[in-house]
Amino acid sequence: MSSVVIMMQWSQGDWMGDLMVFVGGGVVLIALIFVIYSWITMSRLRARLAHEQCRSAGLVEMVETDDLTSAYSRRYMRNIFSQEAQFGQNAMAFIDLDNFKSVNDGYGHKSGDALLKVISDKLVGLASPNEVVFRIGGDEFGVYMRDVDLNAATVRAERFQSAISEATIFVDGFTVSRSASVGVARIEKGQDLVGALYYADEAQYAVKSKGGNAVLANTGATLRSMIQRRTGPRAEDLAAAIKRNEVTYHVQPVFNTNTGAAIGVEALIRWQRSDGRVILPDQFIDVMTGNYNARVTPPLAAANKIADAFTRGPENIYCAFNISSGFLDRTVEDDDAWVQDLLAPLNPHRTVFEIVEHAVIRNMEKTRMLLNRLQAEGVRIALDDFGTGFSNLERLQQLNVDIVKIDRLFVRSIDQPGADIGILSALLDMSQAMGFEIIAEGVETEAECKKLRDLGIYNMQGFLLGRPDTAENWVGKLGLERSTIGTVLPAQ
Ligand code: C2E
Ligand code: MG
Ligand code: MG
Repeated sequence: MSSVVIMMQWSQGDWMGDLMVFVGGGVVLIALIFVIYSWITMSRLRARLAHEQCRSAGLVEMVETDDLTSAYSRRYMRNIFSQEAQFGQNAMAFIDLDNFKSVNDGYGHKSGDALLKVISDKLVGLASPNEVVFRIGGDEFGVYMRDVDLNAATVRAERFQSAISEATIFVDGFTVSRSASVGVARIEKGQDLVGALYYADEAQYAVKSKGGNAVLANTGATLRSMIQRRTGPRAEDLAAAIKRNEVTYHVQPVFNTNTGAAIGVEALIRWQRSDGRVILPDQFIDVMTGNYNARVTPPLAAANKIADAFTRGPENIYCAFNISSGFLDRTVEDDDAWVQDLLAPLNPHRTVFEIVEHAVIRNMEKTRMLLNRLQAEGVRIALDDFGTGFSNLERLQQLNVDIVKIDRLFVRSIDQPGADIGILSALLDMSQAMGFEIIAEGVETEAECKKLRDLGIYNMQGFLLGRPDTAENWVGKLGLERSTIGTVLPAQ
């Protein structure tokens, strides 16, 4: 506007003065435009900067925290670790939820995610400023603990472990929660995150293979001695004993108490040492089947001889073998030949494989495939020690079993006043609907036997009816005709 006025004045004469005014006004105008332009540019820059800051903060948060839960991410943990973990006295806890897959399978993935979130919130809420809770992946969490010795770390891990069991969600009127297996290890100088997790996981696995729901510290020597104490000898000693034919099977019959006839025998492994001592499976079975040592091959020749002694004759008696979690980890997908090899010396129609209820099943799909494959050949599958695991009826729904063996834990209280027989009634209903047989284990007294029969359970195994003994003795006691028994059975 001032330019228009100036132009008018210019056109009216006194051009020198007008020119001065014109130039001065132009400078002001340019300066003004420059100021406005700079202001706009600065504002834009500021806005962009703020946006970038927010964006990078968001990105940092995204990589620092886990996608699903409130815990930190493994990547964040790795960064912290590279900066500080090798200094000072630190520890790592490895947390693995027990039987978590069944939450996804039974209640859907959304419920599984919801439970993971609730558990994570509990853990994060419990963490002190010196502790970092992070998600390792799936149903595994880690807790990095600064400035603690192993004892203090184990006490803290126990606190975290019990908090997990308290975390619950509600689905369709059901309360869903899971326990956890926790391993704790000291972080050694120079160790990276993978190394620290490895030692904690080793202890966690030891907990898991004993049924889970506990905390164990990996103290190297202590862990080794615990494994020794609980599982007995070293793998090499056991392998040598198997070579010397010291490891063989006793058998215990299962009777139909209606007919009084034996319907089958269970092969129970025994280590008969040269000094005459007989070592029971709980002293060495983990070394034979466990994860710590290269797997020791079971005494297959002895197993086949036992099976032969009871399943080749005219009597309809089956021979049952207990199988380990390691066996279930194998897959028929990759290698069908080993199933053929396994079954070649056996009569599949008179063979039963028993899986303990609390067996760690790492891959349910593969396990189902393996069991179906065996069942297709005629082998029957029994769910052993029913009532001792944490899943109870759950595992029954997951696996298509032919037989359920009720553990002594249930049986021993069955004749007591106020005994909880609800689960047995449910089991009986299910056995009719799903078509599996029931066997009661560990029957020791007449009263237990009577009570079971009153409930409608007639197949039984236990000291009342017969203790485990050599195959030779049981062949004789059962009156089975075996002209070849001397040659088929191993020397006892
Ligand atoms: P299980 O399969 O549940 O076997 C039954 C156990 O209960 C046997 O213990 C047997 O001696 C015991 N038992 C039988 N009747 C009675 C009774 O009336 N009262 C009491 N208190 N106990 C009774 P055992 O032979 O010491 O075997 C323990 C466990 O070791 C077995 O439990 C099974 O899980 C495992 N096992 C045995 N042999 C093998 C094997 O060849 N391979 C694998 N992987 N595990 C085996
Ligand atoms: Mg068994
Ligand atoms: Mg059992």
